[in-house]
Amino acid sequence: AKLLGRNKIVTFHPSMEQRINRKERLKSELKQALKNNQLSVVYQPQYSMKTNRFEGAEALLRWSHPVEDSITPMEFIPLAEETDTIIALGEYVIREACKQLDRWRTMIQSQFYITVNLSARQIAYEQLIPFIDGVLSDTAFDYSQLELEVTESLLMVDMERAVKVLKRLKDKGIRISLDDFGTGYSSLSYLKKLPLDKLKIDKSFVNDIPGDHDSETIARTIISMASELGLEVVAEGVETKEQVDFFCRQGCFLFQGYYFSEPCDSAELNRRFFSVIKK
Ligand code: C2E
Ligand code: CA
Ligand code: CA
Ligand code: CA
Repeated sequence: AKLLGRNKIVTFHPSMEQRINRKERLKSELKQALKNNQLSVVYQPQYSMKTNRFEGAEALLRWSHPVEDSITPMEFIPLAEETDTIIALGEYVIREACKQLDRWRTMIQSQFYITVNLSARQIAYEQLIPFIDGVLSDTAFDYSQLELEVTESLLMVDMERAVKVLKRLKDKGIRISLDDFGTGYSSLSYLKKLPLDKLKIDKSFVNDIPGDHDSETIARTIISMASELGLEVVAEGVETKEQVDFFCRQGCFLFQGYYFSEPCDSAELNRRFFSVIKK
């Protein structure tokens, strides 16, 4: 807000036009970001309170823009998803994550996994499976050490195709995780149709735990349903000990959240964790 004469306050909101211009500009800059080495991948570990160690990590994309401070994935991923840019970005993350896992292979327990987010366009892209095959054939780790995260909204786009693609990936041994669980349409019939290994309880429920009765009920329900269906379950966005205690009491022992670690680059992860969990 800017103070004008006569105590008139004028607030400057970016106009619709400015917002559209920014969007279009970012979209075209994002297309070049890969070539210009502005992209990187960070890793947020998942910790098990059962084994007391890090079991795997989620690969998350970062864009260091040459001019603007930080453009969050919440802003740039949707832009990439509007065009085929997400295909190239998605391939970059899978390639980087697998290279990293290969480097970690000799330092960490043999079942350590990396999980990568998939977008709808990637599922629709007929080269997805050949691409993953190509990347994995260059590495020495097991297919089961790669996990792919999908969301319900992604699956809505073309359910039949999604089921087919995910089944083929699963048949190779790749694990499939349903992300942000509880926020989408959550038709329970998905859970039967999809070849899932894991559910991630969305952080919007975790945020309000303990204390919010509805969130606690939803979390409890998801956990018992997952157990009935033989699925693993992970609580996302865990920031406090109270949250950890709540989930452990409910039988969910796998966590991802700032309480255990923020996402960090591979060098930092090496330094902070792998010296400890080396086996
Ligand atoms: P997501 O897949 O749900 O990833 C988890 C997000 O929660 C990450 O945000 C992570 O940094 C954040 N987070 C984890 N623990 C905590 C916590 O304890 N507290 C809070 N407040 N936040 C926590 P990030 O990295 O900003 O990513 C945001 C979203 O962008 C991701 O949500 C995902 O939907 C998308 N995204 C990021 N990288 C990729 C990618 O490589 N491909 C695709 N398709 N989407 C991606
Ligand atoms: Ca995710
Ligand atoms: Ca999530
Ligand atoms: Ca998400």
